[in-house]
Amino acid sequence: MQTICAWCTTILATDASRSAAEGVSHGICLSCAEKICAANGITQQERLEQQVAGLVSQCDLLLEMVGDLYDVAVALAPKTGVTIAPAAPVRAWQKGRTA
Ligand SMILES: [Zn+2]
Repeated sequence: MQTICAWCTTILATDASRSAAEGVSHGICLSCAEKICAANGITQQERLEQQVAGLVSQCDLLLEMVGDLYDVAVALAPKTGVTIAPAAPVRAWQKGRTA
């Protein structure tokens, strides 16, 4: 399976562990990323920071959902007899939420 630049079709990576029948995955090469950044008046650093901010936001949302599920499980524990401990990332997120 190959990963190609969605803009210029340059091959970015080949994953020999996956078959070609799985199709191709898409990414963006450095050259195309630089052109798009220049066209939008931002630097590569700013683009990467925007992507990281987006990922962090998605992670926060997922942790919030898992945290909510954990709260539900804790609330149901007396009825179900099932107790669970949240995973470390959820504990850290919950700690940050109450701080
Ligand atoms: Zn490209």
